[in-house]
Amino acid sequence: MSATRRVTVIGLDGATFNLLDRLRAAGDMPELDRLMRAGCHGELRSTFPPLTPPAWSSFMTGKNPGKHGVVSFRRPPIGYRTGDFISAKSLRARTLWEIVGEAGLRVGAINVVPSYPVQPVNGFMVACMLSPPGAQDIIYPREFRPLLGDDYVISLEPPKQLVATDPDYRTQALDYLGRLRRLGLSRREVALRLMEKSPCDLLALILYEPDRVQHFFWKHLVGSGPEGGDAAVVAELAEAARAIYRDLDQTIGAIVRAAGPDATTLIISDHGFGDAPDRFVYVNRWLADRGWLHVHRTWRLRLSAVRRLPDRLRKRLDTVENIFVDWSRTVAWCDAMETRSAGLWLNVKGRQTEGCVEPGAEYERLRDEIRAALADLRDDGRPVFDVVARREDVYEGPVTEQAPDLLLYCKPSHGLRFNGLRPELRARAPFARFVEYGFTGAHQPSGIYIAAGPSIAPLGRRETKPIEALAPTILALLGLPIPDGMDAPPMIEFLTPEAREATPVRYVADTARAEGGDEGAYESEQDREQVEARLRALGYVE
Ligand SMILES: [Zn+2]
Repeated sequence: MSATRRVTVIGLDGATFNLLDRLRAAGDMPELDRLMRAGCHGELRSTFPPLTPPAWSSFMTGKNPGKHGVVSFRRPPIGYRTGDFISAKSLRARTLWEIVGEAGLRVGAINVVPSYPVQPVNGFMVACMLSPPGAQDIIYPREFRPLLGDDYVISLEPPKQLVATDPDYRTQALDYLGRLRRLGLSRREVALRLMEKSPCDLLALILYEPDRVQHFFWKHLVGSGPEGGDAAVVAELAEAARAIYRDLDQTIGAIVRAAGPDATTLIISDHGFGDAPDRFVYVNRWLADRGWLHVHRTWRLRLSAVRRLPDRLRKRLDTVENIFVDWSRTVAWCDAMETRSAGLWLNVKGRQTEGCVEPGAEYERLRDEIRAALADLRDDGRPVFDVVARREDVYEGPVTEQAPDLLLYCKPSHGLRFNGLRPELRARAPFARFVEYGFTGAHQPSGIYIAAGPSIAPLGRRETKPIEALAPTILALLGLPIPDGMDAPPMIEFLTPEAREATPVRYVADTARAEGGDEGAYESEQDREQVEARLRALGYVE
């Protein structure tokens, strides 16, 4: 196979054409504009949930979460406790880095989620946002550590909340945008240094900035700003946010030039973005109202008893699950995965410690009953959910049975509360006004793909593709066979007739991953707590 086949993937976390088209029209993203005109582009359908870890996992494995096993930021709960955070060790399918590296080609992966702890690869790997802050083992090979620089930061913690009516809103917001901008510039330098030091056949660089900007500033960039926001401040912040996209555009240009004229460029996002919802739906409150979830009548007593225990015991027992919920009578509970996606669990005998639902006919009957009732649920006459599906209707593969029993996706109007069990059970009604950290934007399933380069035909706008189509496409572009079991065909219809002739699609038997589904990626409790603090700051855990 020709040695000049190379692929560069630039991942823009959370990017959507709904914003990028505006920025292109305003002249903020000339490099992106040029690539879009030169090749083809369309919407990229994210995973369920449309969330960073499952979506990038599907990108790098070509498989749905039922096969790679990463469904959210956390592993499935053990009993009733929320599961621990996922890591690179949670992946149960082989990644592009393994497949391409084993074929003798050189790879470079920067910040692809999950990639902590870093694995040995034929090339280099820089860990993702799930690395504990201050961790030293964030790059493979270790000798490359100086290339990251002394002040290398993987991910920035946003302020606890950015609410437009707070007195220091403007200062806080400008400070955050300024820090994000500096981070983006240093990431560009790091990527260029690594590319120079270790040229790759396949390079993937994920840039988190669009996601971080859009959670807080979506309505500044697309619309008239958040409720109660001062128009002059909104305009000032929108301008500061646009500067980050201008920088990103220059980063795209610099990376594409550094990769050379013969490389194929793929610009993709893991999920899209849109307006944050207006209303909360408290699914656990609703389950309690329907008699499917029971609160201990004695919860106050239980709480005061637990609070008197010695520290270590108290820490273990002072959980909402332990104090509030009467599991012996509870049929189901709900856990948010991202703003509009949730998993609903049944309390199954033999699976949960105090399970009371018999597996088999009773399980199916209750699951159907709850599913029908949720599909019918209305707030002020409007339906609340877009999707209420059984897990086997969404996922396919051996890990499906570890996913929640029902998967829920809200209409654009509604959103869910993270770690909502306690606040929802204390709420009076199953609906409330949506307020979450000052978010004005939220994830949507439609991301983007753009393909350009000498092998790509100038076809313009094309149909929607699933995120699982990227891995087989990349393998085909590199002249490598595609392992069986990937969930989409390669997008070879985008190739020029000559390139297509030189790119026969071949399949080989898939091999299992050497390790996968392992527990315990974090070496210490402190590392785990630091990762938790970061995710809390990003609004993913409470
Ligand atoms: Zn993301």
